[in-house]
Amino acid sequence: MTKIRCDICHDCFSLDQFRFLFCGHGFCMSCLTKTRNQRVCAVCRSRKGGDEPRQIYASFVEDDTTPEEKARAVTAGLDKIDVTSPATSIERAGRKIKNVSRHVDEETARELVEAARNLEERVLPLYSELELEQAEKTALREQVEDLKRRLGEMETLDKQVIQLQKKIQDERLKHEKATALGNEERKHAIREMDENARLNKVVQRQQRKLEAKEEEIQQVQNEVSEKEKKIGLLTRKLRALSKQGKKPRLNPQDPDESLQIEPVNDTHTTTRSSIQRTHNEVGNHEYPLPKRKRVQ
Ligand SMILES: [Zn+2]
Ligand SMILES: [Zn+2]
Repeated sequence: MTKIRCDICHDCFSLDQFRFLFCGHGFCMSCLTKTRNQRVCAVCRSRKGGDEPRQIYASFVEDDTTPEEKARAVTAGLDKIDVTSPATSIERAGRKIKNVSRHVDEETARELVEAARNLEERVLPLYSELELEQAEKTALREQVEDLKRRLGEMETLDKQVIQLQKKIQDERLKHEKATALGNEERKHAIREMDENARLNKVVQRQQRKLEAKEEEIQQVQNEVSEKEKKIGLLTRKLRALSKQGKKPRLNPQDPDESLQIEPVNDTHTTTRSSIQRTHNEVGNHEYPLPKRKRVQ
């Protein structure tokens, strides 16, 4: 009975022990159970999909291909292997070469060896390329890490910038408030200065009025002292007259009419009434003499 080799455990089973995925690859039931949680095929990495692995049915006949034909098929298969082939293809190729080489003639064996050498020549530079790529990948990964770190630093800087902007905004608001307050104070000061100037003018006006009043008072005071002198003189004359008991003589040179005593009988009465009149005149001009106050 024809057996099939499982690509996972490498054991051989009959076809009814095998189940096949959507991609076409089949595995023994035991390996399928073990890899149930993997979402891709173990050989080609295709997605398994939701379908259960299927059993397939086939009627095998006796293989009548000659060992040489098998060997040529292997050689053709080796030529198809390239960098896109999965690693298992190379593994399988080695196994096939071993199996086939036992049964072929010398020439076919040489062809196989040649094909294997070709494969080696093609695959080896690909592996060194792969190594280079891996080195590049590592370098790129390091650069990515570096960029991530710098990104983190930039984010921190961004946060700091935002905080600083907020502070600047706060300071600007404070400054605006202070400026507004300053303007208000300035206006207030200007108003006060205007008021002061106005008051100064009022004070100056009042001072001029006061000076005029003081001049008037001085004048009146002069007049009063003039009158008082006359009264004093008159009183002295009257005293002298009453001591002598004589009639006062009429003196036409006396400038004050009140001192000219009429030559009638009741001379005393006339003189007294005349004095009285003079007193009344003075009394009517009773000006208080205020203390002079200087207004600054
Ligand atoms: Zn298996
Ligand atoms: Zn597959």
